[in-house]
Amino acid sequence: MARDRFDGSRPGRKRASVSLLASARGLFRRFRSRVLRSPVRLEGRCNLCGRCCSHILLMNDGRWIRSEKTFRAIVESSPRHGRFTPVGRNDEGLLTFDCRCLGKDNLCTSYADRPALCRNYPSKSLYYQGGQLLSDCGFTFKAMTFRQAAGRLATGRRAFSKVLEKEVRKDAEPKKEDTDS
Ligand code: SF4
Ligand code: SF4
Repeated sequence: MARDRFDGSRPGRKRASVSLLASARGLFRRFRSRVLRSPVRLEGRCNLCGRCCSHILLMNDGRWIRSEKTFRAIVESSPRHGRFTPVGRNDEGLLTFDCRCLGKDNLCTSYADRPALCRNYPSKSLYYQGGQLLSDCGFTFKAMTFRQAAGRLATGRRAFSKVLEKEVRKDAEPKKEDTDS
């Protein structure tokens, strides 16, 4: 299972287009990483705000969970996921969940026993699915852009030209034995 956090404060009407946008963004990110051969990096650290532990979207076998029946089946096979409680739906019909292990101080009361989807959050796959971190999350996704790659290429070329120029000048200078004769 994987998870993302649904920001319920977003206007519902926009949510469908946001989702399409996320898919397109994910596609572009995968394409860019592959072309530039530069995988995304995750930087920063958790500031323990706890915001990613409520209004969560859960994914199973690559699909967001939209049915309580599906969720019950998951809990039956993996009881530790019973900590999540469906609390509503977003406007695409996907279930949103809260976690009963989130303490009043926004800390996880089951930290040592938290499921893999919590241990791995935020995962790089979230980035490649077009997901975004919460604005005040202590982590950041860092990916090379086409502009940065072009800048590096230009810098490399300039450095190479300088070395080449220096070597050509050296060759053109009269050698000591040439000047002695
Ligand atoms: S188990 Fe802990 S880390 Fe995972 S959602 Fe619940 S409170 Fe957050
Ligand atoms: S939103 Fe980011 S900073 Fe806040 S608890 Fe989650 S991972 Fe940590």
